[in-house]
Amino acid sequence: MKRATRYSRAFYLIISAMVALLLTLSANTRMKDFVAYQRDIAAHTVEATSSEIARHIKERRRQVELFVDDQDVLIELMVQHPENDHVIRQVSRKLEAYFPDRHSFTVTDDTVRPIVAGIDFTPVDVCLDDARAALEGKPQPVRLHPNLDAYHYDIIVPWRANTRGGVFFISFLPDGITNLLRLASPHGHHLMLLNRDIEGLIEITDQGARNKLKRGDFHISAAERGRILAVAPIAETAWQLVIVHDAALFTRQRDKIIYQTLLAFALYLGLGYMMLRRLQAEERRRSAVESQLRASTAQLEQANIELQRIARTDKLTGIANRRRFDEEIELELKRTRRSNHPLSLLMIDVDQFKNYNDTYGHKQGDATLREVAQCIESCLRRPSDFVARYGGEEFVVVLPDTPLEGALKIAENIRSAVAALRIPHDSSTIVPYVTISLGVAPLPPGAQVSTAQLVDMADTAMYSAKEGGRNRVATREALNTARQHD
Ligand code: GH3
Ligand code: MG
Ligand code: MG
Repeated sequence: MKRATRYSRAFYLIISAMVALLLTLSANTRMKDFVAYQRDIAAHTVEATSSEIARHIKERRRQVELFVDDQDVLIELMVQHPENDHVIRQVSRKLEAYFPDRHSFTVTDDTVRPIVAGIDFTPVDVCLDDARAALEGKPQPVRLHPNLDAYHYDIIVPWRANTRGGVFFISFLPDGITNLLRLASPHGHHLMLLNRDIEGLIEITDQGARNKLKRGDFHISAAERGRILAVAPIAETAWQLVIVHDAALFTRQRDKIIYQTLLAFALYLGLGYMMLRRLQAEERRRSAVESQLRASTAQLEQANIELQRIARTDKLTGIANRRRFDEEIELELKRTRRSNHPLSLLMIDVDQFKNYNDTYGHKQGDATLREVAQCIESCLRRPSDFVARYGGEEFVVVLPDTPLEGALKIAENIRSAVAALRIPHDSSTIVPYVTISLGVAPLPPGAQVSTAQLVDMADTAMYSAKEGGRNRVATREALNTARQHD
């Protein structure tokens, strides 16, 4: 039972270890999948958003070019009469209609000196550098201009009227781009535009231009740089788009997976333990039933053996009974035939026992029969020699592998041993103590006789002994071999 319990506990431990391994592997895979999925999202987002911003800027430039083209008459008028507020206001109104998110505008001559400063316009060096580049037909990369009023980006296009020319440029607030970044940022990630020329300088994020950010340093930190999952340059701008994931994005997911895995394992352990206990209880119950069964089977077998013993034992004397004799003699005869050995059978009868009973009573008669039986038994030396009560006051002795001479000796030993008991028998007409008469039936090697014939032979010999005067041994061969003693 204990071994079975140990086995089921070892089994539980092995299965638990395997479950733990599987859960760990599955947790690992889930985490890897999550990281790969987030990287995928980041890469796709950056790719789509960068081309959207590029398209937005390109569209802006096309609109400004269109405006300059459409409004060439008005712009020429304004350049010719830069002191005419009315014309400037007219241009300004037109601009407002075309570009509601414009911050300011200006027109310069071909030395990039402003001819008309737009409303709210305060030129800064970087704007003028870009203007010069535009005038020379060089690509004007769009960038964020720090301005006291508002951080903005410029779209600069050349204008030409008659013999004069210069650049016309409009400053835009970056709100459109901010909105785009905000809408495109996936959960747990933030898109931001960095300046490609000034290492790590933040230009615009999903919260606005850098001046709107609540941070001391407008350069991206080393920690933020470590969380960049994808980068893409944006055509026709000085910007590169990066996507930075939240510091907690992966740790939060990792903690969640660990928590779920531990919960699943704890559940398994709990259920497994309950099942183990049930299994052990069941094993205990089964083995208790088994040992009960074993015990009662053993009892039954013992009782059976006892029953068989009783069925083959003579109740009065305690030696083998007639039934046992019948079985044993059959076996011995078969064995004798097979082995070609001799066998002898003794038939023993207590002399004048009727008288004995009449004198001493049946009870004493029984006691004497017992004593005589034990005495006969004690005379047998070989384990194969065998005595049984044949019936009444008669006994038989089977002597396997014993020829006539040996049998006669044993018979005589038995006779003298019983006589030597000196059990008083006053009513005996022979001697005043209990005696027996014995008939010997010898079976030479190879003789073919039945049990009945052999018993008859011994019986006849025994009656010869009776006729010869009792208290003697006789054999089939005649009275002359019979002897009397005492
Ligand atoms: P014989 O010498 O010729 O054998 O005389 P006998 O009296 O012994 O022979 P008989 O066959 O006339 O009597 C046998 C007696 O043995 C009869 C019976 O009283 C007695 N006897 C047989 N079985 C038992 C028994 O189990 N107990 C007792 N006490 N006596 C028995
Ligand atoms: Mg008799
Ligand atoms: Mg008798």
